[in-house]
Amino acid sequence: MSLHALTVAEAADGLRQKKFSSLELVQSLVDRMQKVDPRVKAFLSIDAEGALAEAKKKDASPPQGPLHGVPIALKDNLNATGQPCTCASQILKNFVSVYDATAVRKLREAGAVFLGRTNMDEFAMGSSTENSSFHPTHNPWDLERIPGGSSGGSAAAVAADECFAALGSDTGGSIRQPASVSGCVGLKPTYGRVSRFGLVAFASSLDQIGPITKNVRDAALLLNVLCGQDPMDTTSLPSPVPDFTQALKQDVRGMRLGLPKEYFVEGMDPEVEKLVRAAVAELEKQGAKIVEISLPHTEQAVATYYVIATAEASANLARFDGVRYGFRAENPHDLIDLYGKSRAQGFGTEVKRRIILGTYVLSSGYYDAYYLRAQKARTLIRRDFENAFKECDAIMTPTSPTVAFKIGEKTSSPLQMYLADIFTIAANLAGICGISLPCGFAQKMPVGLQILGPSLGEESILRVANAYEQATAWHKERPNL
Ligand code: GLN
Repeated sequence: MSLHALTVAEAADGLRQKKFSSLELVQSLVDRMQKVDPRVKAFLSIDAEGALAEAKKKDASPPQGPLHGVPIALKDNLNATGQPCTCASQILKNFVSVYDATAVRKLREAGAVFLGRTNMDEFAMGSSTENSSFHPTHNPWDLERIPGGSSGGSAAAVAADECFAALGSDTGGSIRQPASVSGCVGLKPTYGRVSRFGLVAFASSLDQIGPITKNVRDAALLLNVLCGQDPMDTTSLPSPVPDFTQALKQDVRGMRLGLPKEYFVEGMDPEVEKLVRAAVAELEKQGAKIVEISLPHTEQAVATYYVIATAEASANLARFDGVRYGFRAENPHDLIDLYGKSRAQGFGTEVKRRIILGTYVLSSGYYDAYYLRAQKARTLIRRDFENAFKECDAIMTPTSPTVAFKIGEKTSSPLQMYLADIFTIAANLAGICGISLPCGFAQKMPVGLQILGPSLGEESILRVANAYEQATAWHKERPNL
């Protein structure tokens, strides 16, 4: 097997046993990128020189951490010292980070080597990576289709064997949905599990960083490194971090798995539904008990999200004013004109749409009707999950209602695009954890099963996901590139 096809666990073990060097691993991935990335376009920048130099250093030093010498890719909204961090926006086109995000620092301390920066929807706003201001990314399973978004570059890079794993961020589904439609495993931790310090903020009450990997074990391994309280993020949780790989030793016998009746309604691709139901049947066969549950406020989730996320985005993106960071427009008449022109030229259409929407829902006279109401709806959605988790240990749903759509198919209808997140958004509003993993193919494209767990329930979802993965071989399929 070629080195580029390894998993994180295989790479880390092989390095420990000196079967190969970190330099050989990085070289093999760089070769792979040169071969396939001109077609997949998963990366915004590749730091081949830096990664090769770092790998050499790792080979020459005694192993310090669990990922010593293991190459990883980063979504382009995570700060890493000396690296670009464009968020796929013109406004940060020439920006270079001056510090490490906590998640990046933790990976660095665990010994990881950074390969490059993956493409994304501008400021993580989108579901297809078509909102990148640089170029779209292509789904490795069918280059005419989207890889999902907003962490589409990370998912495509993993699926195309251009890296063993990548970090993504998930505000309304941006780790799970691209993982689903590109045939990877993607895990969104409980809100507060992973520090958001150094992640360029989109919607601060919803954003979480998490791994996109080739299998469930790798997701657990990376979670071990990423989680933990951080004084730099006051929303990070003081909860102890278990060894998540221990959860992989347990089977699902006796576990109660909930099927929300509101999630199996029309509009879903029947082939997707069939595969998800088959996955549920497999887990039932292994001894899990399937229970029907209800999440009555599901219908409100998308609208609620698009009020709260845009409101927070309008505040967070105010810092890109042409003065403090990145791009500055030329020849302004005065300061106000400088702000206006820099933002008009620096932000893309979707980002502007969200800033305008967010400013509107927060404006005096409309605040109560929109923002306050959305906060109330959010509480109801959170309670739905609290009630559901009294009756089950994990919830099973499709990750996305359809397989990856064609590039350009939904760009003219923002609402159609927003509906791609219908199954993933509620988890962010409730702050709970979720994982997506491959459960089959429809129209020759990967389909993802979503497993949602309660707050701090990562061990439960990893346990269910691993039990399913062990019994199936979907995660071993590779695209033909
Ligand atoms: N697709 C959703 C949006 O456009 C979610 C994005 C995300 O999770 N970053 O807002």
